[in-house]
Amino acid sequence: MKRAIYHGIKNVRVEEVSDPPPGPGSVQLKIKYCGICGSDLHEYLHGPFPQPVFGHEACGTITAVGPGVRDFTVGQRVCAVFPGAFAESMICPVDRLIPIPDGMPWERAALLEPFSGAAYAIARGAVRPEHTVFVAGAGPVGLMILLGLKALGVRSIFMTDLQEKRQRLAAELGATQIWDPTHAKSSTRVKELTQGRGVDVAIEAVGIEASLKDCLTSVRQQGTVLVQGIFTQRVPVHMLGFVVRETTMIGCNAIDPALALRWLSQGGIQPERIVTAVVPLEEIVTHGFEVLAARREDAVKILVAP
Ligand SMILES: [Zn+2]
Repeated sequence: MKRAIYHGIKNVRVEEVSDPPPGPGSVQLKIKYCGICGSDLHEYLHGPFPQPVFGHEACGTITAVGPGVRDFTVGQRVCAVFPGAFAESMICPVDRLIPIPDGMPWERAALLEPFSGAAYAIARGAVRPEHTVFVAGAGPVGLMILLGLKALGVRSIFMTDLQEKRQRLAAELGATQIWDPTHAKSSTRVKELTQGRGVDVAIEAVGIEASLKDCLTSVRQQGTVLVQGIFTQRVPVHMLGFVVRETTMIGCNAIDPALALRWLSQGGIQPERIVTAVVPLEEIVTHGFEVLAARREDAVKILVAP
């Protein structure tokens, strides 16, 4: 069995490894897709997280169940939110499995984990349909947030991104307004769009200083800033505005698959539209990580198909 193994920064190799049977409380699955997450890219470029994450956005078919497993059967389609899935098959504990509803295409199931992250953030921020929302960044995280906001019924969604293709995609997926934050000052633009008030909720989906600042300066008095981007550097924050505006800032780093499935079953949401490439396992570095690291305009979400 082949698996892409993380050996360190810029050092990922596809290797032949053993394929053991599942132990108690676990299943073995044959992997259909595993998405490359921003956190995988972070590890590739900057080093490992304290907890392993490498290859955790998997979906596949159960090929064997371990002793004591009752709720899952061989042949069943599941998402596996568990590291080690850049591989032909994996062992996954049952508490990290989410059954894939009948009729859901594989490509959509492959995005259930990142979409669940967006659902969690939106719920954590208590976003309501009548809220105005600013999302900084139209990469994989920002676009998932956008889809979640659409599912919730939010009508005013303002976004920023540097890349024209992503701006176009965000507009197609339902963003109300989107601009390049280096061309227009986001806080000014947001004030214009909200009659001087500022948005109810701003969501940071990039992980850089400029976008966090845009969020902090775009929220209304007592507004909420949700932070889901992965930061690699410390950022200085102007705390006076934060205090004067009485901003609530919330970090988001979990998933809500039940809410994500509910939104998906309503229809109208097609997260698979952000997939820009499907690459074989052997090309995970050359056509996966290196393409994402280069921040190429035509790359948003890449799925690995072992
Ligand atoms: Zn992820």
